[in-house]
Amino acid sequence: MTTRRTARTNSPRVGLYPGSFDPPTNGHLDIIRRATRVVNTLIVGVAINAGKDPLFSIEERVAIVKQEIASINAGLASKVEVRSFEGLLMHYAREVRASVIIRGLRAVTDFDYEFQMTGMNARLDPSIETVFLMASESHQFISSRLVKEVGALGGDIRPFVSPNVAKHLQKRLAERAKKAKRR
Ligand code: ADP
Repeated sequence: MTTRRTARTNSPRVGLYPGSFDPPTNGHLDIIRRATRVVNTLIVGVAINAGKDPLFSIEERVAIVKQEIASINAGLASKVEVRSFEGLLMHYAREVRASVIIRGLRAVTDFDYEFQMTGMNARLDPSIETVFLMASESHQFISSRLVKEVGALGGDIRPFVSPNVAKHLQKRLAERAKKAKRR
């Protein structure tokens, strides 16, 4: 009994936080920061998601998440890895030896989807637990989709994303608007 408990305690807990991060918001960053208190190593898995028509390419999203983590603090950077992944989440979780999937949960909106996903994932691999961190009060209404919509309509996105993400977003939205005008 004691031996088993010791072995479990000693094995480093790897968590996988998957998402589109198109782009990463203050809500994502908050979850990353808090997840590092729950796991020893956190892998931020940026989903390739070809079907979602992302605003930023997979390479750009990985680079931006890395920039965000580097800017938080040095201690965090040593615990967090950022990688892209494709295909079934549970296959990837197994590949990186994650024992925990981390997800953020905003009031009401996320529940139905997350409930179904977690049930399905538990069937696919019951040895991997999904842990939900409640979105902080100030981040409840932030989503990548809304930030992109507000930005595209000329609204102020600075309360929702870092200055670095705001810069990337404004640049990309301006490029898109220019392209659309030419058509
Ligand atoms: P996905 O395409 O998987 O929904 P997202 O990048 O939109 O990817 O979200 C990744 C994870 O981050 C999800 O668990 C989502 O619920 C969570 N999340 C997104 N925005 C917030 C936020 N403002 N606060 C807390 N968690 C969030």
